[in-house]
Amino acid sequence: MDLDYGIGLSAYMVDTLSRERRSWLMGRVPHFDTKPEMAVRKMLYGMGYRYRLHRKDLPGRPDIALPKMKKAIFVHGCFWHRHDCKKATTPKSNGSFWLDKFDQNVKRDRKALADLSELGWEAVIVWECEVSDLERLADKLANFLEHANANPA
Ligand SMILES: [Zn+2]
Repeated sequence: MDLDYGIGLSAYMVDTLSRERRSWLMGRVPHFDTKPEMAVRKMLYGMGYRYRLHRKDLPGRPDIALPKMKKAIFVHGCFWHRHDCKKATTPKSNGSFWLDKFDQNVKRDRKALADLSELGWEAVIVWECEVSDLERLADKLANFLEHANANPA
């Protein structure tokens, strides 16, 4: 889901950031099949749902899609996607770079949700920090998936 950030960012970082800063940062760059996403997938599977991953033909390429129900789930890292929680820190140096980057991410996310909705899909965001409470996460997923799509196209 986040491969593009990795590529764009490393090109930028090679020239401008110190090695320490770079390795600190790379530790924060999410990858495919990051843990929170795996946790959500396992939970859905356990609940009996079957899904498709990273469907390129859908806006925002949702991490998880349930095509029959027209429902999509994004599993977002709190730092990159600016969740309103303590994980969404802002690095002190290169401030404008970060603000631009975050702004792009937030706008892209918002557009993906709007475009999905226009196609008759419902989407929900699962935040990385929500995965630490599996019971609540199960409630959230069940609520989302057990109600009929209110937005059929
Ligand atoms: Zn969070």
